[in-house]
Amino acid sequence: MGLRGGLDLGGTKVQAAILDAEGNVLGSARHPTPTSGGPPDVAATLVAALKEAAEAAGTEPAALEGVGVGSPGEIDPDGGTVGNAGNLPNWRAPFPLASVLQEAVGVPVRLGNDVSVATEAEFALGSGRPYRSLLGVFWGTGVGGGLILDGRMWVGRSSAGEIGHMCVKLGGARCPCGREGCLEAYAGRGAMEGRARRRVERGEKTVLFEIMEKRGRPRLTSGVWARALERGDGLAIALIDDAVEALGAGIAAAQNLLDVEAVIIGGGLGLRLGEPYVERIRQAMLPHTFADDRPPALHLAALGDLGGAIGAALLVSAPVMSA
Ligand SMILES: [Zn+2]
Repeated sequence: MGLRGGLDLGGTKVQAAILDAEGNVLGSARHPTPTSGGPPDVAATLVAALKEAAEAAGTEPAALEGVGVGSPGEIDPDGGTVGNAGNLPNWRAPFPLASVLQEAVGVPVRLGNDVSVATEAEFALGSGRPYRSLLGVFWGTGVGGGLILDGRMWVGRSSAGEIGHMCVKLGGARCPCGREGCLEAYAGRGAMEGRARRRVERGEKTVLFEIMEKRGRPRLTSGVWARALERGDGLAIALIDDAVEALGAGIAAAQNLLDVEAVIIGGGLGLRLGEPYVERIRQAMLPHTFADDRPPALHLAALGDLGGAIGAALLVSAPVMSA
């Protein structure tokens, strides 16, 4: 096995990593995701990030064994298309991302779901290595979940692992998905920003938006939330407390059903807030955990921000489907 390329396609950034046969990262790069244009522009950004990462690794894309892409939206791994990627500009109809990238870089390209590949990466190379079953929870703009049961990714009929849309409160807050009371409605960074804005409109005070503007951010990023917490901002603390409670209830419900060995917490907010919040989520889970004398191990994602790109590169070693 030679060098492999991995691309993590996110709503705000694209990350690229070059892996050697043992899974070590030899080079990486990060580019902002285009906010206008369409799929061809996003594809061009992916190619640019890959080239930069390859250069950092002392190689070039054409010399790679292959390239994997972790993408949001509806993925057809066999057809090589991505459709309905809501966070990406004008990306509705299925777009032949694999063949467009393959044409540009000259090596085989494989597609996978962004959350699944990040979970696989933690399972193969990160915090999940000691376990045969685990739940990956990616606490970021949304709340994504990936599930490994008995050593294998469980995708159900294709949409398993959607822990963000487990109901944690009947008749609760409206979720970006349109349903009520989902975990993501309380813990997704996107939904939390909406809650913060509505409470400010009702007259509550917060430094959240001040910090956002001072740092030149278009939205309440994980860094903005972390700074507001450090400054003891009441609204930020209240919303993060709600998020932690919701995560505890949602993860405990999943645990009661599946009894996995470990839960890995990743995602932009999870990584930014770190270990103290993993501990807080553990405490929030306990009242809802049926086998509370044997809770699962909880870990922070060990591969950090590059986990998605690393997991995408691992797609290259997966068995190739017949065409
Ligand atoms: Zn939902």
